[in-house]
Amino acid sequence: MVLRIPKIAFDIDDVVFKSFNLIANKLLYKYNLTVEEPPTFSLRKYLPSLNEDQYGEVINEALSQVDYFEPYPGAISFIKYYHETSKYPITFITSRNEKMIPYTHNLLDKWFSSIEYNVFFPHVENVRKPNIISKCCVDMFVEDRFKYCIEVANGGNCLVLMLDRPWNRNRLDEKSFKIVPVKNWDDIEMIYNSFLYLF
Ligand SMILES: [Mg+2]
Repeated sequence: MVLRIPKIAFDIDDVVFKSFNLIANKLLYKYNLTVEEPPTFSLRKYLPSLNEDQYGEVINEALSQVDYFEPYPGAISFIKYYHETSKYPITFITSRNEKMIPYTHNLLDKWFSSIEYNVFFPHVENVRKPNIISKCCVDMFVEDRFKYCIEVANGGNCLVLMLDRPWNRNRLDEKSFKIVPVKNWDDIEMIYNSFLYLF
């Protein structure tokens, strides 16, 4: 076995940036929805009269507000540190739809202007996240949505680092052994460093 620095890929929404807050604020503004604690991932549940297209429109409106995005503490600095130490281009894999492609580039260019990165949109390409992960030879994937954590963990040789969010708590069981729950970006840095120091 040839040891190499692990290749890490990143989901964008609610992993690097606090996207959920933007969607919740948009729903508050448009439909007067106050989100209960702890929130569920799909806020549509609270607005049964909203159809899927209307909900999708709210999400698009929220995610197109490039200047309103706030990163999670430690996310930007870790990704820059990872890039510097690994020399890999950064790989982002997002479930965003086709309309969001230009906004996603604007957002990533704003925060990672000095870094070479690739962003993949599996839903637009009509494939699944594990397909992209295998194609890019990703060793670890940082994700927040349990559904995708399971998909990736079952779909190949990739370890999933599941960032703690209200909607993924208490979801792990014996079938999710390839999912490592992490509290925050400091935990991710510690895991990465434990591999990096082998070199
Ligand atoms: Mg996400």
